[in-house]
Amino acid sequence: MLGGWLRELSELVLPAVTSCQLCGSRRRPGKNSGLCCICQKEIDYWDENYFQCNKCGRYIPTQGLCVKCSEEEPPFLKAAAVGPYRGVLKEGIYSLKFRGDRNAAKPLGRLLALKIRSRLKTDDIDIIIPVPLHGNKLQARGFNQAELLAREVAREIRKPVAHNVLLKKIDTPAQTHLSQREREENLRQAFFVNTVDRVKGKGVLLLDDIFTTGSTASECTRELLEAGAEKVYVATVATGIHFSPTE
Ligand SMILES: [Zn+2]
Ligand SMILES: [Zn+2]
Repeated sequence: MLGGWLRELSELVLPAVTSCQLCGSRRRPGKNSGLCCICQKEIDYWDENYFQCNKCGRYIPTQGLCVKCSEEEPPFLKAAAVGPYRGVLKEGIYSLKFRGDRNAAKPLGRLLALKIRSRLKTDDIDIIIPVPLHGNKLQARGFNQAELLAREVAREIRKPVAHNVLLKKIDTPAQTHLSQREREENLRQAFFVNTVDRVKGKGVLLLDDIFTTGSTASECTRELLEAGAEKVYVATVATGIHFSPTE
């Protein structure tokens, strides 16, 4: 009786310890991950059963490169992602972006940092640059989700975030229903490097919430390389699945 009462009290005082940081359920989270067993299982599932393209990080059924990267190599060195854009990751990103739940950046950023450490060469990274939002969108949302994620990742991998270095000068329309070619067309010249000195000769980790066709990551990478960045890696919380040439 007393034990139950005490537990309830401790849950009130220490909510972070007794609920999953990703889904918010009361299932007891793992000590180090902060995730409940169900979220952890879902995230592990993809890495246990599939491969990530050696280049872009999309999930594929066999080891090596995805169809897209074997046809045309992207300009960045390598991309890392926690998992496909579905399930708990999709919900977490939705909460962060559209419900304004800034706390969601914490578990997502931590999971991403783990993936970055296992997949990328962190020694090569000098600065973290979040994919920027156009001023109009930033004003409407009140924050840039990539910036919040970058802060969490920065804390975990101990690299600085370079703010306001890469900017978006053209307010491109929502990309969701566009083909890859249309996306690329829209994004051409949409980004620019504001302070070239901060990028020159640097290893850059470009950070965003979702990797869809890779058009945004590629366009930002081209700008960064043009400004003199030595190498560019990409990290996103979620990525795509590429199981056949038609997908
Ligand atoms: Zn959970
Ligand atoms: Zn690929």
